[in-house]
Amino acid sequence: MIGLIGLGRMGGAMLRRLRAEGQPVLAYDLDPRLRQAAAEAGATAVDSPAGVTAAVVLLSLPQAAAVSAVLDDLLPVLPPGAVIADTSTLEPVAARGFAADAARVGIAYLDAPVSGGPAGAASGALAMMVGGDPAALERSRPLLSLVAARIVHVGPSGAGQIAKLANNLLVATHLAAAAEALRMADAAGLAPAALLPVLNAASGRSAATEVNWPRWIGTGAFDSGFTAGLMRKDLRLALGLAAEAGTPLSVCAAAVAAWEACPVADAEEFNRVADALFARRSPSGEGGA
Ligand code: NAD
Repeated sequence: MIGLIGLGRMGGAMLRRLRAEGQPVLAYDLDPRLRQAAAEAGATAVDSPAGVTAAVVLLSLPQAAAVSAVLDDLLPVLPPGAVIADTSTLEPVAARGFAADAARVGIAYLDAPVSGGPAGAASGALAMMVGGDPAALERSRPLLSLVAARIVHVGPSGAGQIAKLANNLLVATHLAAAAEALRMADAAGLAPAALLPVLNAASGRSAATEVNWPRWIGTGAFDSGFTAGLMRKDLRLALGLAAEAGTPLSVCAAAVAAWEACPVADAEEFNRVADALFARRSPSGEGGA
C-alpha cells in the first residue's frame, strides 16, 4: 500500500501509473471530485490526510503552505519509520523544516521533487532528485521506482529542492534564450522549421530546442501539463534561493524578468511564454515553428 496526497495534474498521473502497476493506493485531495476520480481508478479514497496511514506516502502539492497543512494531520497518524516522499517543488528551507518536524516523531521526510511532467509520471519515467536520509530513500525506493525511472540522492534535506530549482531556472532561461535566438534568425530570413534541425545537430541545442520547441511549441500542442504559474513560482523560489545564498543572478534574472513580464496567464501551459517571446517581434507574428 502506498499513500498519495495531491491528485492534480502530477498526482493524478502518478495515481494512474501506480494503479496500472497493480499497486494499492490510499489517496486524498482537498477536491472531492478528484477523490471520486481516484476511487473510480481503483484507489481507496479517504476524506482527510489522517486517513492516509501508509508506510510510504507521496505528496504532490502546489506549495509549502499546503504541505504544512497536510503534515499537521499526517504526522500524528503515520507508523514509526514511515517515509514521506514530497514531490512538490518548494523552498529548500521549508523542506528542511518539514524533515525536522517529521524526525521528531520518528518519521522520515524526503524532499523528492521531480522532472518529467504528467506524461513522465503516467509512464513511470520521472527523474526524482532526493534530499534527506539515504536509508529512508532505500526503504521507499521500490515504491518510488514505480513512478520514477531515475532516482538520485543528491544530499541532505533541502538538496533535492536546490537541484530542482537550479533545473527549472535553466529550463526557463533556455526557453527564453531559444525564443530570442529563433526570433533573430526568423527576422533575418531563417524560419524555426529550418533552423531547429541544425541547432539540434550542433552545439547550441538544449531541451528547449530538442524537446519543447518540436513537441509543444512548433506543433501548437501546448499540452505538457505544466503551467506558466507553476514555473513562475519555481523562478521566484530560485531568486529567493540565490538571494539567500548570496549569489545574485544576472543572465538568469533577465530571463526570469521576461517570464514575469510576458502577457501569458498563470493558468496557461508554460511553453506559451516561449512562444509569446518568439512571436513578439517575429516578422509573421505567428510564432511557433
Ligand atoms: P495541480 O495544481 O494540478 O495539483 C495540486 C493538487 O493539490 C490539486 O488537486 C489541489 O486540490 C491539491 N491540494 C492543494 N492543497 C491541498 C491540501 N492542503 N491537501 C490536499 N490536497 C491539496 O499542480 P501539479 O501541476 O500537479 O503540481 C503539483 C506539484 O508538482 C507542484 O509543486 C509543482 O510545482 C510540481 N511539479 C509539477 C509538474 C508539472 O508538469 N505539472 C512537474 C514537476 C513538478
